[in-house]
Amino acid sequence: MSLQDITARLARAEAAAGRAPGSVHLIAVSKEQPHARVEAVLEAGHRRFGENRVQEAQGKWPAWRDRYAGLELHLIGPLQTNKARAAVELFDVIQSLDRPRLADTLARLAQERGACPGLFIQINTGAESQKSGVLPDHADGFISDARAMDLPVLGLMCIPPFDEDPTPHFRLLAAIAARNGLQRLSMGMSDDFETAVAEGATDIRVGSAIFGARPPKD
Ligand SMILES: *Cc1c(COP(=O)(O)O)cnc(C)c1O
Repeated sequence: MSLQDITARLARAEAAAGRAPGSVHLIAVSKEQPHARVEAVLEAGHRRFGENRVQEAQGKWPAWRDRYAGLELHLIGPLQTNKARAAVELFDVIQSLDRPRLADTLARLAQERGACPGLFIQINTGAESQKSGVLPDHADGFISDARAMDLPVLGLMCIPPFDEDPTPHFRLLAAIAARNGLQRLSMGMSDDFETAVAEGATDIRVGSAIFGARPPKD
């Protein structure tokens, strides 16, 4: 378990970037990980986790919520509209707001429940056809529409193209956030979180570097 290693690397990256110690949120991405590995990280005192599938998260997190106080659970994968109700009931933060129809559904659920998870709008910074997220050209309009619906938009999230230098993507995300007055930037994963912190990340999503490689699916 290398939670300590990653925490130490994050602290150095914060210092190098002139950021306050502890100002960057480390989201431990526990998707597909064996339960024992997740429990080791919970026992070590970590409380902020990310999952990319609603159904998988529903199968394991309610029991851990009962055992570990103060959990903060982030949905970081695409959200189907028909799973939105389950998602708002389970997650504290949804990082994958990516289309008008989902915004409508979340706004309706927020009205009904009188509460809504904090939201990040996912931006498809590489304009990749296979990836979800709002296209950069549509971002300003989408952000203002979401705000007009009273949705609690905290910031922006991106997943840069797998095979490219992530830096221009992190910078594009930071620029869109800055011109829209959004504070939070969810960017950076196991291989590039230090770069992301240097570019202003406030939330990094780190899976395999904490838990080890995800076991192959069968
Ligand atoms: C899986 C995943 C991560 C973590 O990836 P690692 O390379 O294991 O750190 C981060 N963000 C998203 C959206 C993911 O799906």
